[in-house]
Amino acid sequence: MSSLQDRTRQFLWHPCTQMKHLEALPPLAIARGEGPWLIDESGRRYLDGISSWWVNLFGHANPRINAAIVDQLSKIEHVMLAGCTHEPVVQLSERLAKLTGLGHAFYGSDGASATEIALKMSFHFWRNSGKPGKTNFISLQNGYHGETVGALSVTDVALFKDQYAPLLRQSAQMPSPDFRHAEAGESAEAFALRCADFLEAHLQQHADSTAAFILEPLVQGAAGMAMYHPVYLSKARELCTKYEVHLIADEIAVGFGRTGTMFACEQALLPSPRGKGAGGEGAGVGIQPDFMCLSKGISGGYLPLSCVLTTDEIYAAFYADETAKGFLHSHSYTGNPLACRAALAVLDIFEEDGVIAANRKKAETFTAMLEPIRNHPRARHFRHLGMIWAFDVADAASGFSRAFAEAALAQGVLLRPIGGTVYFMPPYVIEEAHMAHMAQAAATLLDATGQT
Ligand SMILES: *Cc1c(COP(=O)(O)O)cnc(C)c1O
Repeated sequence: MSSLQDRTRQFLWHPCTQMKHLEALPPLAIARGEGPWLIDESGRRYLDGISSWWVNLFGHANPRINAAIVDQLSKIEHVMLAGCTHEPVVQLSERLAKLTGLGHAFYGSDGASATEIALKMSFHFWRNSGKPGKTNFISLQNGYHGETVGALSVTDVALFKDQYAPLLRQSAQMPSPDFRHAEAGESAEAFALRCADFLEAHLQQHADSTAAFILEPLVQGAAGMAMYHPVYLSKARELCTKYEVHLIADEIAVGFGRTGTMFACEQALLPSPRGKGAGGEGAGVGIQPDFMCLSKGISGGYLPLSCVLTTDEIYAAFYADETAKGFLHSHSYTGNPLACRAALAVLDIFEEDGVIAANRKKAETFTAMLEPIRNHPRARHFRHLGMIWAFDVADAASGFSRAFAEAALAQGVLLRPIGGTVYFMPPYVIEEAHMAHMAQAAATLLDATGQT
């Protein structure tokens, strides 16, 4: 064991980790990164198959993002955003408004803080609007919105939530349109519409006490890359408007091109014309949520930054002479200039390199390479959207996830299955040779790892 691994066990408390497990599998001691590669102290290279926990878009040590941050360093590294403003945060807000149609940007540091901001803003909007009874939140079964107390209250992942249940505020969970739960013979669209009926039934009864519905559009990441039909998004929008409940789109993981469009909300579909849930393609409409939460990829995986975008209408309800009607929420590093410059460099790369179109080509290539896995006798529910691929391992025993991760490292790939779900979420700089390496490693592991 390297001395770094000894020292980390002595002085650190690692996130989302039972520290005792590090006795058997010490953390990788990373010395540097290079594009899609992580390189450890001894010079061993690992393909970052999960984009460093879903944050990295354009590789490690990206020269363009590096240059933007270095340039900003010589100007201003940080200044408080209460009472001050600066060019990078204003420019970023202008560009995000243009991309989403949501004209007001409030910044935080992490994804969980964005969730907290959206929940508090929604609640406060209704108070400012003479509806103080709208205090409850609804979310999807198996949804994930972060680990702070407020965000965990709308999260529905037992492993993260159960221990803290007595600490949390009650919220109601709607059936998840995750197509793996469709009945035999039922299309993903018909199932999503059936789930939307449950949402409507809940809203009919509880709209007066409900402030907002929060969901992860198209992919429930922490649930194990659960995917659902985009008709659910247009139904959720329609129902939230009808029953006067805010729709919060948590695009923290799926924003910035991950699902094949800049934002997942752009892919919302109307029900297919052939009748309810016939399973054809409905018309693409895209939806605008009342709040959109962004983080993770926003800074290309460089610096902690999150953002909640919202509408003119919601913004206007806080705009008053009275101080207490304002949104008196803050984080010390709100709108940090270095993080905003990283985010601006990310948006430049999207524009200059035609990233969304280039990713479509890469995705086709990788999907074809994963064909042996799709057909593997142990693989179930192979699924793919944009730059996310996942499948469930039918006979995954307990401990599968760690055994698979360890075996993947031996193959030079960093993967981290969620329970029995193996997924790939590579940085967009991935090239054909990298994809072949990952596909080959995963197929080999599937033949060998963690069978009961
Ligand atoms: C990661 C994530 C969060 C929380 O973000 P942190 O930066 O880890 O606090 C919230 N929502 C979704 C959908 C996420 O994937």
